[in-house]
Amino acid sequence: MPRPHKCRRVEFLPDTTYFKPAGKPLRELEEVRMSIEEIEALRLKDLEGLEQEAGAKKMNVSRPTFQRILASARRKVSDAMLNGKAIRIDGGYFEIKCRRLRCHQGHEWKQEASVSALPTLCPQCHEPSLVPVASVTLDAKDRLLTMKRES
Ligand SMILES: [Zn+2]
Repeated sequence: MPRPHKCRRVEFLPDTTYFKPAGKPLRELEEVRMSIEEIEALRLKDLEGLEQEAGAKKMNVSRPTFQRILASARRKVSDAMLNGKAIRIDGGYFEIKCRRLRCHQGHEWKQEASVSALPTLCPQCHEPSLVPVASVTLDAKDRLLTMKRES
């Protein structure tokens, strides 16, 4: 039986998920595919400046695993930059804590739990009043893993 894959924990989902070199038609482009946890490792180590040990702890993986994810991410970025490839950020094996929010018109959406400030407007109708509905954990396919309703 295959070993169940342990989910890596991430705190951040990037808004931009596609990067393309200028002046090259899309059909001629090769693509590098990066997972959400690879981007998370880059974020924690290279942007936030965490030590590998702290990064590993945040992602709930061993230090060698963190090192491996990070090395793979850096290699892909280098490959894209030096060989003129596009980068697609997509998928992976991870879980993320989010809060689910609702406006008074009934639109629901989610926000990463690591974002400390609540958004001020509903992204759909721009109504300013909104309420947190639940704290949820989602997997890479946006499936619900855990949910705690706000009281
Ligand atoms: Zn709304």
